[in-house]
Amino acid sequence: MHWADVAAEHLMKKGNEHVLATAITPSGPIHVGNLREVITTEAVYRALKDRGAKAKLIFIADTFDPLRKVYPFLPKEYEKYVGMPLAEIPCPCKQHDNYAEHFLEPFIHVMDELGIKPKIYRAYDVYKEGRYNEAIKIALDNADKIKAIIEKISGRDLPDDWMPFNVKCEKCGKLYGQIYEYEYPSAKYRCKCGHEGIIDLRKSLVGKFPWRVDWPARWKIFNVTFEAFGKDHAASGSSWDTGKEIAKQVFNYEPPMPLVYEFIHLKGKGAMHGSTGVAIAASEAIKILPAEVLRFLFMKYEPNRHIEFDTGFSLLDLIDEYDRYERIYFGMDEKIAGMKDEKRVYELSQPYGVKASSPIKISYRHLAIVAQIAKDFDEAIEIIKRKVELKDYDETRLKERYEKIIYWLKNYAPKEIKFEVKKEMPEMEINEKEREFLNELKAGFESIEWDAEKIHTTIHEAAKKVGMQAKKAFSLIYRLFIGKDRGPRAGYFLQSLGKKFVMKRIDDALNA
Ligand SMILES: [Zn+2]
Ligand SMILES: [Zn+2]
Repeated sequence: MHWADVAAEHLMKKGNEHVLATAITPSGPIHVGNLREVITTEAVYRALKDRGAKAKLIFIADTFDPLRKVYPFLPKEYEKYVGMPLAEIPCPCKQHDNYAEHFLEPFIHVMDELGIKPKIYRAYDVYKEGRYNEAIKIALDNADKIKAIIEKISGRDLPDDWMPFNVKCEKCGKLYGQIYEYEYPSAKYRCKCGHEGIIDLRKSLVGKFPWRVDWPARWKIFNVTFEAFGKDHAASGSSWDTGKEIAKQVFNYEPPMPLVYEFIHLKGKGAMHGSTGVAIAASEAIKILPAEVLRFLFMKYEPNRHIEFDTGFSLLDLIDEYDRYERIYFGMDEKIAGMKDEKRVYELSQPYGVKASSPIKISYRHLAIVAQIAKDFDEAIEIIKRKVELKDYDETRLKERYEKIIYWLKNYAPKEIKFEVKKEMPEMEINEKEREFLNELKAGFESIEWDAEKIHTTIHEAAKKVGMQAKKAFSLIYRLFIGKDRGPRAGYFLQSLGKKFVMKRIDDALNA
């Protein structure tokens, strides 16, 4: 059974109504590693729905979190905002309501493309609406208990005067206020900036919980029954361990069913992390990968498997692999040893349900060649149609893929895969042997049907006939058409260029 179905079955044993929560702090570009959280959770949500459960998917944006530091992608003047809530800091591009929205907006757009439609909450608003107020009183009344739990489980020593609440200083606006005297509903605090004041805890946005208390508090506020989180939260003594106890002992709430997922690594660079810059933004990933393939990457592996994300050649392999699952789904290819739950993986990879009625007709790899030959999408379609028959839906899908490939070629593709077709015969010397070969090739090409495989065979035969190494023959062809020694697979490449164009170039070379 697929891992999402396994999780759903476990949940069903506990009841028929579920709230599945995901949360992300929008302090920087939300990356592919963060995507795992929402995609994983949404898959379990779908599996629950498929079983007739009443399920709700929520996404909490931690917009009340403070800015921790001036990240490398921020201008220096952001120094003055460190410690302030993300929702109260100006957006770097000036087009959004605030800093948090600046990073949240593109991510919400990505979720939409991926078919993920959670109910979105912003922690800043949840606090503002007073939904935390009851939990704030409970936590402060139980401050000693919470402190003892955290110290015991995490092994950390907290300061003697530690309180489970960070006050937003009325003077500097930073979440640096420390409560030193408390009698509900008022609390006296002292801020790092030197300011001292009194707050009324019933008023909105006077402060927030630190993460270790915020997490269990929100389980209760939203009735969360399932939550997936990264392994950093799951290590021994981590926020999950303390959160479970705080939920049970302080908030009197049964913790949700957890699902721990592994990090996503950026090939050759390590685990993705927003703050280190080792990351590909989710909004970039969706520009180079079809949504279903991006989902597929996460559906195929168990959440506890680490995933290597690569924007280079492996991207093509990933899409090829997805296409193979698609062919299997439509009964046009055999399952490969080791493949698990292949049909379910395919289903769960679809953003909005299975829409295709047959597999895609051309591989991404070939499309990458066609996209570099054609001047635009219409011409690309013309070239493809020389080889396969397309339907309306194929064209829609191909257009999407075409646009993503163009973006990939421009921004991420390794240079080995890139080429430019020479519109005119390039300046070059052709020796006697090569002339002999081209004459043979011309004769061979004249007599065959214009098909990739036949073209390929003809090149080999012509080279053999004149006693030329195949490698040299191919290299000559590439020099003739793209001015490089190497290039895409010759058969498909020449087929895509069209017989007329190829024959003319051979003539030009012979007449040079
Ligand atoms: Zn902005
Ligand atoms: Zn202050």
